[in-house]
Amino acid sequence: MPFFGRSWTIFKIFGFPIKINPTWFLLFFLIVFSLSSRNGLFYLWLEGEEVRPATMWLMGIVGALGLFICLLIHELSHSMVARHTGMPVSGITLFIFGGVSEMEEEPPTAGSEFFMAVVGPLSSLALAAVFVGAWAFFSFVVDGAPALVALVRYLAIVNFLLAAFNSLPAFPLDGGRVLRSFLWGATGNLRSATRMASTVGSGFGMLMIIGGVLSLFYGGGISGIWLMFLGFFLRQAAISSMRQVTMRETLGGERVERFMTAQPVCVEEHLPVDRFVNEYVLPYHFTIFPVVDEDGRLKGVIRSLSPGKIDRRLWPDTPVKEIMQTETTELEISPATPATEALPKLSRESGHRLIAMENGRPVGIISLRDLLEFIELKSDLE
Ligand SMILES: [Zn+2]
Repeated sequence: MPFFGRSWTIFKIFGFPIKINPTWFLLFFLIVFSLSSRNGLFYLWLEGEEVRPATMWLMGIVGALGLFICLLIHELSHSMVARHTGMPVSGITLFIFGGVSEMEEEPPTAGSEFFMAVVGPLSSLALAAVFVGAWAFFSFVVDGAPALVALVRYLAIVNFLLAAFNSLPAFPLDGGRVLRSFLWGATGNLRSATRMASTVGSGFGMLMIIGGVLSLFYGGGISGIWLMFLGFFLRQAAISSMRQVTMRETLGGERVERFMTAQPVCVEEHLPVDRFVNEYVLPYHFTIFPVVDEDGRLKGVIRSLSPGKIDRRLWPDTPVKEIMQTETTELEISPATPATEALPKLSRESGHRLIAMENGRPVGIISLRDLLEFIELKSDLE
């Protein structure tokens, strides 16, 4: 989720890293508040019952955690099917709009995309059925547990809503993926299927934005704002999925070595910082430079802004190796790596450049701009 910043891995299930994005805490807070505050859902449902405020807040927290687990089950179902069809999944991220399974590639066939997508709403529907059962059980069989009834009632409803919302044919929501799999199966062309599905998806996004604005006008408050943001997010996701498919198709089969600038400009580790600035930063305008020893082996990386970390008067007496970054694994790539794999790595890296390495020595530099220019040129020619 690049536009939501960093996420933290909190644990692993079945080998899938489960990550939490900071925006998820906002969702958590909103849910607890909408359930347990004075105007909340639980007060409404439990009118006339003797429930202490502390119990009410506790129920809200349990409700939000329950939703967290249900979302996780939904995403796990996608990830399990994806793995079963041989697609690598880099993890599951929970963020303000729910969850997302991070697939590293497009599905191999239209059929596998269909199964991978449809299993999500089905698992939410199954969860809804389980909670409806529990709701009936606690209402009719066990008497006098109103708090528990309210809790399972909430989870039944929310899972049903999750199934319904995700079934909208708005790509890249699950329903939209089902739509894409049909279009893909019918036309045999992934790119045009994605174009049609994401056009529908961004149309739905627009409707949500309009709905959110209207709801704000009629006093919808926070839910109106949320609907608007959800619409923006859906549009954005539809557009970026389209772009991703185009890029993957354009770069298909190409390797890093085709795009890299060979014989990169390297800085010797003992070079004083003032000479680094005058002889490298000013003439070359690169964001990063590999730092090497006498044998040309990579020792670290220095960024063009790194000299700013120390006092200018110290520059002549400080060798580059003292201010370089020594942890470079995130910046290294093999020339034989498929270019499609370099793309996400390049976008993650702040300098948008990676060092192509062979036997511990830098043999080239690849930049995001080089890749993007190639993609643009090739799609113009087509
Ligand atoms: Zn889903």
